[in-house]
Amino acid sequence: MKYRFLILRRVVQVGILVLFFVGNFSWVSIAGKNYGVYQGDTSVFIEDSRNLAAGESKITNRAMHFFQGNLSSSKIFGVIPMSDPLAVAQLFLAGGALALDIYIGLIVVLVIYGLFLGRAYCAYVCPVNLVVDFAAYLRRKFGLNTLVKQIHIGRNAKYGILFLTLVLCFIFGIAVFEMISPISMLHRGIVFGMGAGFFGILAVFLFDFLLLKNGFCGHICPLGATFSLIGKYSIWRVKYNFEKCTQCMQCVQICPENQVLHNVGRKSAVIDGMACIKCGRCIEVCNDNALTYGIANLIKRRQNEV
Ligand code: SF4
Ligand code: SF4
Repeated sequence: MKYRFLILRRVVQVGILVLFFVGNFSWVSIAGKNYGVYQGDTSVFIEDSRNLAAGESKITNRAMHFFQGNLSSSKIFGVIPMSDPLAVAQLFLAGGALALDIYIGLIVVLVIYGLFLGRAYCAYVCPVNLVVDFAAYLRRKFGLNTLVKQIHIGRNAKYGILFLTLVLCFIFGIAVFEMISPISMLHRGIVFGMGAGFFGILAVFLFDFLLLKNGFCGHICPLGATFSLIGKYSIWRVKYNFEKCTQCMQCVQICPENQVLHNVGRKSAVIDGMACIKCGRCIEVCNDNALTYGIANLIKRRQNEV
């Protein structure tokens, strides 16, 4: 099927948002009366000794709490913590005291994305991907990709912005990117209700649509840069087969990080560029089956590097 990974990504992205939406809602019964509360883990204050009605309070729909919290810090099935590694780094450098759960959540995320998924967070989890993919689609439809670039920002700028973000957190003692992150704005907006964050999302959309192809995620986002670095040696990869390729270059045109496809038309290789978001768009558009998902052969890769 032509759009199989695109459909899969949308199902996963929207499914995660729905699970967060449902998981943060609670029916709370206090002294026999039911209240709908939309505030993540309500057990913290329901069972608090300072709650004078603690003995008569209970949460009646715990079974729905698959995903609680937000993308910065969440709990899956009420047990497995997950922490956004950039948010943790920012809070740590800003001097914040972090709970043990946050550190365990960080380790969980580092293992999942570092060993296996790499930057797939961008393609399969981050809600901003829905916005930037829509902007990229409109750019193609309106022929804006053929225009001369209005602004020039290098692909590696996102690593510089990541470094700068961390330095500023240390200097000012605040989580700098968390305050302006369109990822948090959109996720919290969808799950808890959209406010002024809408304008941040609109800015990202207009930037990508009007000014720079794949502008925000490809050139600026420090969270994308973080997952790129974490997943540098992740084993789930896209593989390219030179023998099957007819060099139509459709993959290069659709790829949001097309610098990683530098071996296309030259030699068979595993797509090793850490910026690859593992979206599978290149696989879908290739009519020659020259690209596939696969597991990188680490031993071979090391031999090639020597
Ligand atoms: S680059 Fe940033 S905004 Fe874009 S998909 Fe990745 S995490 Fe989300
Ligand atoms: S190489 Fe393929 S999987 Fe990787 S970002 Fe580009 S289109 Fe997506």
